[in-house]
Amino acid sequence: MRILHIKSGIIEKTTVQVKTIPKTGEIDFDLKKAIMLTVKRFIFNPVQENTYVLYDGKDACCIIDPGCYFQEEKQTLASWLKDQHLVPTLLLNTHCHLDHVFGNKWVADKYGLQLQFGEYEQPSFDFAPRSGEQWGMPFEQYTGEILYLKEGDLIILGNDELEVLFTPGHSVGHVVFYNRPGGFIIGGDVLFRLGIGRTDIPGGDAETLLKSIRTKLFSLPAETIVYPGHGEPTTIGYEKELNPFLGNV
Ligand SMILES: [Zn+2]
Repeated sequence: MRILHIKSGIIEKTTVQVKTIPKTGEIDFDLKKAIMLTVKRFIFNPVQENTYVLYDGKDACCIIDPGCYFQEEKQTLASWLKDQHLVPTLLLNTHCHLDHVFGNKWVADKYGLQLQFGEYEQPSFDFAPRSGEQWGMPFEQYTGEILYLKEGDLIILGNDELEVLFTPGHSVGHVVFYNRPGGFIIGGDVLFRLGIGRTDIPGGDAETLLKSIRTKLFSLPAETIVYPGHGEPTTIGYEKELNPFLGNV
């Protein structure tokens, strides 16, 4: 087990209120209980990707999958961080499909961060700029050093931590980030509310994806909240019971 990125800080328990959920922009969640890390979601780019900021109200702040593509989206994220007096200390990707990496370079440059993603995800990362050209959405790729994450790594965020779970199938090196005390995962494109990630794309494999969900995610407590890469949050228990792609679990 490796311990990554140690920072000190005091945990402040935080709850947030539900707001009307708009189609795009910022959303706060009522997490139903006090947790150590607060999860903030932004919905960015034409693919409606969920960008997450985790923070503890003290000095820990982490950006996961910055999908901000347009200048105004970057401005939205920067302004919100500034208003909250937050300075990001970690930049993580669950996987490197283009809609999850558009803002990597901008975040890394602005906040002086090193990008971290799963150890087998380099092919997706390398393909993303070409994919951007193909979809008519060219973007500047992050060019700095990459810190590769392995199954079981612990990423330290203030006084909290994220466990790295290796969950391939949607992409070859996909990982999810599990905050055990807070009872949630930042899940990328593995498990959605009543859905699963696509596997009809390069690096995708349906059997592998289902295995990742069954062995890695469905072994978590039923009340674990899943914050997916697209759409609304769900829970492990809800998906075990109702997800049509995972019958007979
Ligand atoms: Zn994806």
